[in-house]
Amino acid sequence: MEMEELRKKWERTVESLVRQGIIRSEVVRRAFLKYPRYLFVPEKYRKWAHVDEPLPIPAGQTISAPHMVAIMLELADLRPKLKVLEIGTGSGWNAALIAAIVDTHVYTIERIPELVEFARKNLERAGVKNVHVILGDGSKGFPPRAPYDRIIVTAGAPEIPKPLVEQLKPGGKLIIPVGPYHLWQDLLEVVKREDGSVEVKSHGGVAFVPLIGEHGWEE
Ligand code: SAM
Repeated sequence: MEMEELRKKWERTVESLVRQGIIRSEVVRRAFLKYPRYLFVPEKYRKWAHVDEPLPIPAGQTISAPHMVAIMLELADLRPKLKVLEIGTGSGWNAALIAAIVDTHVYTIERIPELVEFARKNLERAGVKNVHVILGDGSKGFPPRAPYDRIIVTAGAPEIPKPLVEQLKPGGKLIIPVGPYHLWQDLLEVVKREDGSVEVKSHGGVAFVPLIGEHGWEE
């Protein structure tokens, strides 16, 4: 498929997400248009990148469906200059979208070396310069750059990992799928109050691959 056709199909997907009220803010709409999903999927799936479904990426993982990514970004309420940590880099697409909105350095952690390479190549090809892809166990957060205004986890955890709450600034927010089963979770919005306690709101059922690590599931 020609680039022009990919672009047109992608613009229609973005318009549809706006019409459905899933993309609600101009910053998220602009980020989606700046970094189209077809730049972050394996070549053989490029022609399906506009379809609102998860798609395979290397190492048996997935790039999330566009509506899911939009829902999480809207919940995160991102603004320029916020310091954001993403956990579960995968293809690098969500990190690129975050970077487009915050317009400063974004840190993203991935546990699978093959995906660290995949994401770095995608980000480079898309011209994204402010995303730092780190190899490691994101269930422990990333202390060297803490505290964060926002932490966005794109894999499902059995419970809210304590280190992630610790690494949030007071007033900061964690978006994370949490649930007792590997592939079924509640999407949680965890806000850290000034006194260090947390307020947790659920935003309904989601299905993510598992967060595997010290504060996640066992491999
Ligand atoms: N955000 C990604 C994107 O834009 O393509 C999609 C993420 S995919 C649904 C979940 C990712 O989380 C997988 O790549 C998986 O390897 C990674 N993951 C799982 N457990 C992890 C951990 N403890 N630390 C870092 N990454 C982890």
